[in-house]
Amino acid sequence: MNALDTLLKGIATLPSLPAVALKIIQEAKKSKSSIRELADIISYDPALTAKILRIANSSFYALPYKVDSIERAVNILGLEALKNIALSFAIVKGFRRNPVDEFDHELFWKRSLTAAVSAGMIASKLRMKRDDTFVTPLLMDIGVLVMYTSKPEDYLKVIDEKRISHATTVEAERAVFGFDHQEVGGEILKKWGIPENIYLPITYHHRSSECPQELLTTVNMLMLSDLASSIYHSNKSLEKVEELKRLLKDKLNITDDEISEFIDSVAEKTIEILSTFEIDPGNMKPYSQILQEANEELGKLNLSYEQLVMELKQEKKKVENLAKELKKANEKLSGLAFRDGLTGIFNHRFFQELLDKEVGRADRYRHPLSLIIFDIDHFKKVNDTFGHPRGDIVLRFIGDLLNRAIRTPDTAARYGGEEFAVVLPETDLKGAVVVAERLREAVEKLEIKLDDQPVKLTISLGVTSYEPQKGHRTKTDIVEAADKALYNSKMTGRNRISIVSLHSNN
Ligand code: GH3
Ligand code: MG
Ligand code: MG
Repeated sequence: MNALDTLLKGIATLPSLPAVALKIIQEAKKSKSSIRELADIISYDPALTAKILRIANSSFYALPYKVDSIERAVNILGLEALKNIALSFAIVKGFRRNPVDEFDHELFWKRSLTAAVSAGMIASKLRMKRDDTFVTPLLMDIGVLVMYTSKPEDYLKVIDEKRISHATTVEAERAVFGFDHQEVGGEILKKWGIPENIYLPITYHHRSSECPQELLTTVNMLMLSDLASSIYHSNKSLEKVEELKRLLKDKLNITDDEISEFIDSVAEKTIEILSTFEIDPGNMKPYSQILQEANEELGKLNLSYEQLVMELKQEKKKVENLAKELKKANEKLSGLAFRDGLTGIFNHRFFQELLDKEVGRADRYRHPLSLIIFDIDHFKKVNDTFGHPRGDIVLRFIGDLLNRAIRTPDTAARYGGEEFAVVLPETDLKGAVVVAERLREAVEKLEIKLDDQPVKLTISLGVTSYEPQKGHRTKTDIVEAADKALYNSKMTGRNRISIVSLHSNN
């Protein structure tokens, strides 16, 4: 039995297909399913009936008249389309009843529904509107949900892997599980009796180059709709916009203006559909509005961007070029937000966030994690003798020294005034003491001249190590231990290293 079979066998806890959805599929399999019978099944669930009528009357279908009964909806939209809408509702509802602790179900379905809406729009641009253009993109990532539900710990590793090595979701899943969500999605949908025209393209939605010719149009549509959705639900919106533009121009021969319009209406239509699925759209809004608001924020943050904001307001057409400039500015700003203005190394805020993440990782992988905190000895004397600005220069020297002496994966940050911290992932106490001693010596050997006078500096260090298998400790415990160790170094003569153990038996 291969790894995928094992996973699928182990998911007895996974919600089975909701009863209404099952009935709809069974009905669909009958060679002569009638409008009357389908309408009967749907009417059995009044909430579903109401939702279908709302969808039929929404701008997604943009019908010129009002649809007021299920039978009418079947007549107008067609049996197939209605079956697929009903199926979509039943599945989304069925899954949302079983929330798994850390998995963001709202976001998952928001992403999937945005893709479904985008697919409908792309299909109509391609004049290939088919009945399964809503349900197929809606279900394309169902494998992610299945993998997370059955092995949440492993899926967290996938997320870590993506973050650390910048792998794609598929690559990271393959590294951790040996298979990916395309395969899992295909298998589970097949198991549920969902027809082949829906599940087969799903198994190729991240590898169009390998897919059989007859599936290519649908697979391309899935890929494009996934991209359109990630404009609104990933942290790489600008990149995704560029990519989508490139692909759409390639495949559809449409203008930049039309593409911008398309991207905006994806949000407008999705917000409307989300409410039908009882999902809160949160702060989802058209992309051009996001850009404009981001720019206004930027203007507030830094006056030098004021001009940029003005330009954007006056010349909406130039949004594309500005987006690029904005991206750079944003990167610079978000980078700066984590940097200490004086020394250029990471600041206290970054240190706190990093330590949070590293404690989480240490817990998950049962790796040791060490922390060094150090403080310059008698720094007040430097300030008193040479003045505060010269003191600042000394702090910069220490920043430079840390930049040179600390190697990845370790991270140095300015902890406070003349206090610094070094976070050492996957490093035990022995290793941390070696680094601390190297720092102590390096500072002692620093040759600094202020006003032509040599200045001798020393530092006092506190070291501690967290070993998850010896007992759970929090971030606060770790910082307090390193602080206490630093205090001990100060109390016992300075220019030295002290250790405070977090686990009584080491
Ligand atoms: P100890 O060996 O006990 O650490 O003695 P100390 O003089 O270094 O310690 P203390 O905490 O009494 O003084 C720290 C000094 O560091 C006082 C404060 O003005 C100075 N300081 C803190 N931040 C900065 C800064 O950004 N620039 C400069 N120039 N001085 C700073
Ligand atoms: Mg000091
Ligand atoms: Mg101090």
